[in-house]
Amino acid sequence: MNERIPPALSHLSLEESAGYDRHVIDYIQRAAATGLYEIRGLGAKRRLPGFDDLVFLGASLSRYPLEGYREKCSTKTVLGTRFATRPVELATPITIAGMSFGALSARVKEALGRAATAVGTSTTTGDGGMTSEERESSKTLVYQCLPSRYGFNPDDVRRADAIEIVIGQGAKPGGGGMLLGQKVNPRVAQMRTLPAGVDQRSASRHPDWTGPDDLVIKINELREITDWEKPIYVKVGATRVNHDVKLAVHAGADVIVVDGMQGGTAATQTVFIEHVGIPTLAAVRQAVEAIDDLNMRGKVQLIVSGGIRTGADVAKAIAMGADAVAIGQGVLMALGCNSASYLSGDKHVSALDDYAKLGTAPGFCHHCHTGKCPVGVTTQDAVLEQRLDPTSGAKRLTNYLKTLNMELTTIARACGKQNVHHLEREDLVALTVEAAAMANVPLAGTSWVPGK
Ligand code: SF4
Repeated sequence: MNERIPPALSHLSLEESAGYDRHVIDYIQRAAATGLYEIRGLGAKRRLPGFDDLVFLGASLSRYPLEGYREKCSTKTVLGTRFATRPVELATPITIAGMSFGALSARVKEALGRAATAVGTSTTTGDGGMTSEERESSKTLVYQCLPSRYGFNPDDVRRADAIEIVIGQGAKPGGGGMLLGQKVNPRVAQMRTLPAGVDQRSASRHPDWTGPDDLVIKINELREITDWEKPIYVKVGATRVNHDVKLAVHAGADVIVVDGMQGGTAATQTVFIEHVGIPTLAAVRQAVEAIDDLNMRGKVQLIVSGGIRTGADVAKAIAMGADAVAIGQGVLMALGCNSASYLSGDKHVSALDDYAKLGTAPGFCHHCHTGKCPVGVTTQDAVLEQRLDPTSGAKRLTNYLKTLNMELTTIARACGKQNVHHLEREDLVALTVEAAAMANVPLAGTSWVPGK
């Protein structure tokens, strides 16, 4: 029986087309009815080769595992050792990815900062500038310099602990951001010096450069403003990763951030999310090879983002050569994204009706673009944003980040490592031919690496 056929129709002989299934028919008919493309939030929904397709070879006779309760496993992570006189020192390689004030409320930004500070990691601004809430709550704050320059100013550059120049984002490499008018409240509008209530499209490329040589100039400007103290990160959406990473390293970046196509967004065209960019698994391999080709391993650090959800994902990214990871969607889910209820005081209040009004349900929601987030995470609505309390949100997020860190050290110990950064590609094998080829690791049970 075709499992996708509803039970009420299962007595009929129905054969669904693989090429024109109900999703495709719905897409065509919606396009025909409206003449518009779909805009939505979060990341790619289709199955892509990913970290789930890799497994670790734990220690046994040939390797010696660490005893979890007695032997330490370090997670200390230092970013920006190449030129910055004050590199970023973190207690964990798990950082919080850039997400804008506008996409998120100020209360959420505060929760992110509190949780990051509690676990000893960094959080990151986004399009639209730095809020006082996130600066005050974050011990280590990375300040993004984006193509739009909305809310960007030299005072905030100096108040930051590191600067991240954003070239692109994994959910939409080559495209700019979107913030629909319903999320542009007076404070968001004032920070961006744009009118309230009007749709905003962010630029897809920086206004003052036409190529990589201009990136050199921009990096030097930012170094001068910050007295060469602060690390300069360069973030790219994963496409031609090998070339992009080499160009960014040549331009003088201290840290490279590579965001794969599983990365999320607050709003962009679905066609972008699902069809532009390459999976994170393929991107991390190319980025590491580019850094190795330039003999810069250990001098330039690599942060990987795009669909990192679990401690296992973190461990696999690090084993493949990343120095740290950045998480966006997982962080939002820890705060309550896609939960059936939100907290009001100590009480759980059902949000099901509000999901239904958006035409969705918990577990399926990607409606961040609407500004009507049923759990108060991606909204600027004065009533809805109260559904996320910064204190309880920070507590949940702290728990999530701590859990990932514990899972990471559990795996590292099982592989016999006293430091999570000692995880290596040799600790991994792949479960599928695709993953073996993309990650450049052997297919499990063989010594065969596709292409070698
Ligand atoms: S629950 Fe809120 S944050 Fe999560 S996808 Fe829906 S609108 Fe976005």
